[in-house]
Amino acid sequence: MNKWYNIFNRATGLSPYVWLVFCILPFYFIFRSSSTPEVVSGIVMIILFFTCYRLAFASKGWLVYFWTGVQIIISIAMTLLFSYVYFCIFLAFFIGNVQNKAGFITLYAIHITTTFITVNYGFVTQNQLFFQQFPFILISLIVVILLPFNTYNQKKQGQLEGKLEDANKRIAELVKQEERQRIARDLHDTLGQKLSLIGLKSDLAGKLVHSDPSKAQLEIRDVQQTARTALKEVREMVTQMRGARLDEEMHRVSQILAAAGIELHVDGDYGLIDTNLLTENVLSMCLKEAVTNVVKHSQAGSCTIRFFSTANEFGVTVGDDGVGMDVGRFSSYRGNGLRGMKERLEFVNGSLDIRSESGTTLMMTVPRVVKKPVKEERSV
Ligand code: ATP
Ligand code: MG
Repeated sequence: MNKWYNIFNRATGLSPYVWLVFCILPFYFIFRSSSTPEVVSGIVMIILFFTCYRLAFASKGWLVYFWTGVQIIISIAMTLLFSYVYFCIFLAFFIGNVQNKAGFITLYAIHITTTFITVNYGFVTQNQLFFQQFPFILISLIVVILLPFNTYNQKKQGQLEGKLEDANKRIAELVKQEERQRIARDLHDTLGQKLSLIGLKSDLAGKLVHSDPSKAQLEIRDVQQTARTALKEVREMVTQMRGARLDEEMHRVSQILAAAGIELHVDGDYGLIDTNLLTENVLSMCLKEAVTNVVKHSQAGSCTIRFFSTANEFGVTVGDDGVGMDVGRFSSYRGNGLRGMKERLEFVNGSLDIRSESGTTLMMTVPRVVKKPVKEERSV
């Protein structure tokens, strides 16, 4: 809680100024009564109520129920003594913030019962002030019934969104970790054994070079052969690693979308995207960011990923049926995701197109490159 009024404005949709009016209003009711002891007791009760209210927000465990109990008692007393009903709104808001389900229901039931009984008592005893305030009291009763549920649900939803974001981060972390382990395993299996063999054979050749030069020569030939095989295997491994990127990414994004409860439709075949490895990497990264954004921002129920190819270009579109975004404000967004995608795609002469009609659709296009760069073949 950074600012004091955050305890008011979080989930009610009421501005702090409206809450401020509710804070000042009880004093008006108190000063209407003539006797000084009544005024003093009223002020004490108001101060006590707000102190308990603040303490209830700051407390944990049974203390929350204790402070709320004190507030309910003060609210009853204020209603009966000064015909001031509106503390029940503060209580209704606070009760919605109680996270324990049993505690929430108990407090909700107690609050609603006490409020209805005291208000009814006011009407039964023909209290004129109650009749004058009738429409406001009616609104307060509706607030007492609905506000706790509204606040409670919003809070739960916020928590679920937080958990989902954590889960997505965790999935991304695990996927990275698994990929690292796989690379380490592949390197160990491919290179480790061959390098040990090269080491042993070179030692042996070194020992034989004077005593049996012809055998040493044979060993050196073996070393050459093993080194060539190792090189070939590393090349194959790297090609495999890079070649698998887009389908691996598809696998990952389908997992992320499933975890977020968003239905995935795939249209077209990513196997058709036959471009150089750098471009495929760029497309994979953009695909990942686009889907992460769908999960993070769109509130969509379904997401469609479409792969297409024309005579000159390859492309992927990622569309969702969510809330959409203000495309005009693109440059003012603070995140790095969309900007990074645009820069990456421009680096490989591609482009990013964002549309938002019903939901958001991102179209990423890269030029069709027929020949793989010669450099890459030599890089291993
Ligand atoms: P980062 O990607 O750096 O972690 P970010 O996701 O907020 O942060 P961007 O990916 O650049 O940043 O997105 C910018 C903004 O565009 C988001 O804050 C969000 O408001 C909006 N946005 C992006 N994708 C969608 C989408 N699919 N649906 C609705 N809004 C979106
Ligand atoms: Mg993003």
